[in-house]
Amino acid sequence: MARVDCSKICPEWPCEQPEEFKGVWVVAETDDDGVVEASLQMLTPALRIAEKLGEPVTGILLGPPGVSKLADELIKHGADEVIVVEDEALKDYYPDVHGAVVAELARRYKPSTILIAATSRGREMAPYIANTLRSGITADCTDFDVDEKTRDVLLIRPPFAAIMLAYIRTPTRRPQIGTARPNVFPVPPRDETRQGRVRLEKVDVPKPRARLVSRRKLERREVPIEKAEVVVAGGRGLGGPEGFKLLERLAALLGGVVAGSRKAVDAGWIPPERQVGQTGRSVKPILYIAVGISGAAQHMIGVREARRIVAVNIDPDAPIFNQADYGVVGDYREIIPALIEELEELKKRGPRAIEEILAEQIETAEPGSP
Ligand SMILES: Cc1cc2nc3c(=O)[nH]c(=O)nc-3n(C[C@H](O)[C@H](O)[C@H](O)COP(=O)(O)OP(=O)(O)OC[C@H]3O[C@@H](n4cnc5c(N)ncnc54)[C@H](O)[C@@H]3O)c2cc1C
Repeated sequence: MARVDCSKICPEWPCEQPEEFKGVWVVAETDDDGVVEASLQMLTPALRIAEKLGEPVTGILLGPPGVSKLADELIKHGADEVIVVEDEALKDYYPDVHGAVVAELARRYKPSTILIAATSRGREMAPYIANTLRSGITADCTDFDVDEKTRDVLLIRPPFAAIMLAYIRTPTRRPQIGTARPNVFPVPPRDETRQGRVRLEKVDVPKPRARLVSRRKLERREVPIEKAEVVVAGGRGLGGPEGFKLLERLAALLGGVVAGSRKAVDAGWIPPERQVGQTGRSVKPILYIAVGISGAAQHMIGVREARRIVAVNIDPDAPIFNQADYGVVGDYREIIPALIEELEELKKRGPRAIEEILAEQIETAEPGSP
């Protein structure tokens, strides 16, 4: 690998040679239930990058004394080792404090790559780490690869307003930092036999610049769309908020939730936390029913992990039919009531008749399989 000529890079930044940086890190977020699923999902691209670079995968865990008991969860899902910082001052999350601790660990260990799930916390902390380390960051990646010649990680994401993909690299700075939204990658399979090293590190934890006054858990009345097994989504083709009432009925029969395209959100027909896609959320249901949605790339990115896609669209040439497993051409105002009627009939056969059909789908369908 060619050595970097530091005189050509910002003179205020410390000179760095990429070849001196090794290891792929996943900064793990935790909550009351353990390591959050979105962080475990980041082990999938981490393992792929690490294999191509021939480097280990390391999980980073920060928290109060006792957090190290969660290290095993990262190891069982593929991490080779876990670096843990336990400190009472890490009990509450502050982006500047947690970010400073990760940055300090990165100065000590010099990883080549740091991946962070783009949860609200990850989105806040990742740029903080990148700026502290004077390195680059690519947010909301939809894929990662490695340029085998230069050993640069390729951080892949759709650029704004485009159908193509941008391959972004950080050629002269390390670590290479990337985030990906929850549900863009699956959690690697758990392997009970995996063993790994757990290192306890001491870091001087800085004082936060803000103070947590109180914490309140939001009561969710509905299942969030990212967790739903059935998602019925509506787009601009619904023509107004009334169309969503029909979708609510269909979703209720299927035990699912309602979501929408950005056009539906922009029109105020459905709240922003129900938007699917690049600037919304990624979903991974067994069944995704897209009604009056054209199938723009920015929307379809959010349904990559859906097992079965059913599209209802009046236009036989709508792009969504190229990606749907089943397509129904027609006016949703006729198709959806007919479907509701059929399902209501089916339900009369037994309270679990619909669930049984869906369960069959779980067994036979793989994500993205036609
Ligand atoms: C940077 C950027 C980020 C974006 N992020 C997102 C995102 O996160 N999520 C997202 O969804 N979009 C996103 N978009 C917007 C995206 O490009 C599309 O504009 C949007 O997805 C289109 O929404 P739609 O399919 O509801 O509307 P349209 O494209 O207008 O499609 C409406 C569809 O409804 C059909 N239709 C009309 N009447 C009926 C009827 N009676 N019955 C059945 N079908 C009917 C039409 O044939 C058409 O196919 C983003 C765009 C940009 C530039």
